[in-house]
Amino acid sequence: MKNMIKQHLIRNAPTYIVSVPTILCWIIVAYWGESTWKEGVKIVFPALAILLTIAFFILILVNFVKKIVKMTVSEVVKDGDYHLSGAILYKEGVPHISLRVKTIHTIFSKILDITTCNDQILVELGKCVGDNFIENSWRTMDFAVNFKVDNNQMTPKQKLVKWMDMEKTAGWGEFQISFFQEQSCGRFSGEIKVKNCFLTSERTLSHKSFCPFLVGYCRAIITGLTGFEVEVREDYCSRDPNNSVCAFSFNPVL
Ligand SMILES: [Zn+2]
Repeated sequence: MKNMIKQHLIRNAPTYIVSVPTILCWIIVAYWGESTWKEGVKIVFPALAILLTIAFFILILVNFVKKIVKMTVSEVVKDGDYHLSGAILYKEGVPHISLRVKTIHTIFSKILDITTCNDQILVELGKCVGDNFIENSWRTMDFAVNFKVDNNQMTPKQKLVKWMDMEKTAGWGEFQISFFQEQSCGRFSGEIKVKNCFLTSERTLSHKSFCPFLVGYCRAIITGLTGFEVEVREDYCSRDPNNSVCAFSFNPVL
């Protein structure tokens, strides 16, 4: 509660700062308008009061517009527990549910407990989710202006950058992509770094890694968006306190 009040005060600081001299000016105009002050001085206060009032209402309007935009455009979130893109998709007739990150971790742990193929099962799961994203979500995302996808106009690299933006709004983490050398056939390799990844949240090297899920997921997405098969591997993981991100490199399969 204390934090909310603090955040509200910081966010609305300009409005509060302007409101104080505005009220003071109007009080001066109301009570001292008939004083014996010189005409030049007298006119300053009504003019200042009007200007400050206009500024005050402009600030209120800006805050209101910001709020509306915030409600309609997906937000970049870091903790992975909350995101708006699901709510937007739900409104568009694509049913969504929300699960706590801890719940996802429990599901993954259970899967690893009951299987003998360990990482491979997570890779396959990730691949399924990635294929599903390409077949369904990639096309349904174009209703949101900020996700506008034009498959005929966009190059494979532009599509991958767009995908990064989508992931940011889905609460999966902050994805960043770099492209490396391009081969003559238009295939390219690159690296994806994920900060605040939902799979490594509150997990250390003593815990089992869930990142093979992202290996399979990235493989399916990159293959789906570029049209050529890639191999993905995790080079280092943020479960290690020395790394601030999980880094995945991808290379075309020859
Ligand atoms: Zn990792």
